[in-house]
Amino acid sequence: VGQKTAVKPKPRFLRVNTLKTTAESVIEELSKIHMVYKDDMVPDMLVLPPGTDLHSHPLVTNGKVFLQGKASCMVAVALNPKPGWKVIDACAAPGNKTVHLAALMNGEGSIIACELNKERAKTLQHTVRRSGANNIQTVNGDFLDIDSKDPSYAEVRAILLDPSCSGSGISTERLDYLLPSHSRDDQDDASTSSRVMKLSAFQKKALSHALSFPSVARVVYSTCSIHQAENEDVVNAVLPLATSLGFELATPFPQWHRRGLPVFEGSEHLLRTDPEDDLEGFFIALFVRKAANGGVEE
Ligand code: SAM
Repeated sequence: VGQKTAVKPKPRFLRVNTLKTTAESVIEELSKIHMVYKDDMVPDMLVLPPGTDLHSHPLVTNGKVFLQGKASCMVAVALNPKPGWKVIDACAAPGNKTVHLAALMNGEGSIIACELNKERAKTLQHTVRRSGANNIQTVNGDFLDIDSKDPSYAEVRAILLDPSCSGSGISTERLDYLLPSHSRDDQDDASTSSRVMKLSAFQKKALSHALSFPSVARVVYSTCSIHQAENEDVVNAVLPLATSLGFELATPFPQWHRRGLPVFEGSEHLLRTDPEDDLEGFFIALFVRKAANGGVEE
């Protein structure tokens, strides 16, 4: 937010939808008119010069590529779901990460994509259709109402939780899908902080719920917020519960330099991105449950 005036133009990122095409074939097509190269960290992510506008390009409209930022794409990669797994995307609309999960799973296995808001659930369905994935079941409902003890969720192996957040890590013009309309106006500090605290309370509840699924081995918690209250504080608050259930924090993208704020022991496992990295402000925590044999689930 504060950095908004100082930002230099960011490169444009796009994710190749490997359910429909390959990075090589997209590079071949785009390099006729644009400079384009592969990102060195996130698979199937292409980087184009700042200002490149591909919104109405056929590759986008036909779902072969998604205009999705690098930090956003790091979330599903951190979860690392395997083809054949049963996965929940807890707060899914508009569905960019849902269809990324489907691509990482080669369309094999199943994804339950849950979205509370009815209108956004429609957008989610549209994104799913555009992606060509046929292993995604969309549910218009509250993730907190999904009964983790219901036998139909007994085999869920991984959960991606990207809940509503303040959106303080991304530029204001892109906040419209994240914020209820009454909160889009300028706010004074007091109302911002009370809103952040409300979001933080929901985020803790939702993360605790995600950890309660009996067979879940990997849980990713992510936000596009820069507030400690929505990031490190949420993780720290659920750590005792997570530990009692056999989870520990793992380190997504260990080669990445920017980690969690050093506010508790273990925060070095957390990942932050920042406009200084030419990216939006995102936060990622990865919980991994130790396997019964004492090893850690890969
Ligand atoms: N992961 C999405 C993506 O990458 O496209 C963005 C998700 S957005 C940050 C959070 C979404 O969670 C919003 O669409 C919001 O309506 C939804 N949401 C909020 N509370 C929820 C709940 N209790 N259960 C399910 N969805 C919820």
